[in-house]
Amino acid sequence: MKVGIVGAGMVGSTAGYALALMGLASEIVLIDRNDALAVAQAEDIAHAVPFMSSTVVNAGQYRDLEGAGVVILAAGVSQKPGETRLELLERNAAVFRAVLAEVLPVVPDAILLIASNPVDIMTQITTRLSGIDPSRVIGSGTILDTARFRSLVGRHLGISPQSVHAYVLGEHGDSEVLAWTSARAGSVPLSSFAAQVGSPLTDEVRAQIDDGVRNAAYKIIKGKGSTYYGIGAGLARIVKAIASDQRDVLSVSITTSEVAGVRDVALSIPRVIGADGVLADLFPDLDDEEYAALNRSASLLKERADAIPL
Ligand code: ADP
Repeated sequence: MKVGIVGAGMVGSTAGYALALMGLASEIVLIDRNDALAVAQAEDIAHAVPFMSSTVVNAGQYRDLEGAGVVILAAGVSQKPGETRLELLERNAAVFRAVLAEVLPVVPDAILLIASNPVDIMTQITTRLSGIDPSRVIGSGTILDTARFRSLVGRHLGISPQSVHAYVLGEHGDSEVLAWTSARAGSVPLSSFAAQVGSPLTDEVRAQIDDGVRNAAYKIIKGKGSTYYGIGAGLARIVKAIASDQRDVLSVSITTSEVAGVRDVALSIPRVIGADGVLADLFPDLDDEEYAALNRSASLLKERADAIPL
């Protein structure tokens, strides 16, 4: 599958690098308003390809997106230390208006994969602006938060993250919800597994894991300015599900008719992903507290997205 990437900064280029190394795309086209940057990133990534795959990597213009099955939208301005994701909103909404006006005429049928923050709101804006079916406008959402959640739980239990089945729901950001109630290790409820291996999930352990997931990005940004390896791999993972029609269950953001009592809002819940984008939405069992937290997260996102003039 040919994959286009608009925005060849840290996130876009890292996604391209991950895709190229994993051999998930036959061709990658990198586009940026800074042409020289796109050319340099494409060349640098292309030099890694002979070691790992046969992906063709080029920089290009919007017309070169023709034939792309997926276009990753990673253009925008990055989060500065101390800046919330929501403060980026106005600036990135304007960037997306300009980018979509170029992308849509060339690839009206491509699946759009949104990476720019605040990702849930950018996903909702893109769905509204493009008129594309919501199942084909997919935000990376909490794919990374879910990976962090699984990794920290796995470390606590002494098992691999792949054997932990747990999701982060709602906003990719401060109001996100760690769905503890529905979490499993293997097929065993998490608390029962934890008791069996002698590593109980005390309130303190849960609070530490919650903090590790919720504040991971802030900590990384403080140390190195921005985050990109994790999200680059997460984007490649979503492309893999689409390109191979894998029907994987991943927590991603799309505009959804109703979540936790809130209508028409983009946020993350587990969803089945295949060649046509999101094929089904899944609603994990939640206790009252988790449901209320998801309702708050959804209400907040809906309010912010509705406030953006289109
Ligand atoms: P991040 O860390 O989120 O990747 P960067 O600032 O590294 O942030 O990358 C964002 C990229 O988006 C930059 O390379 C910038 O040139 C690009 N960009 C910004 N506005 C536009 C636009 N209107 N069209 C195309 N690319 C854009």
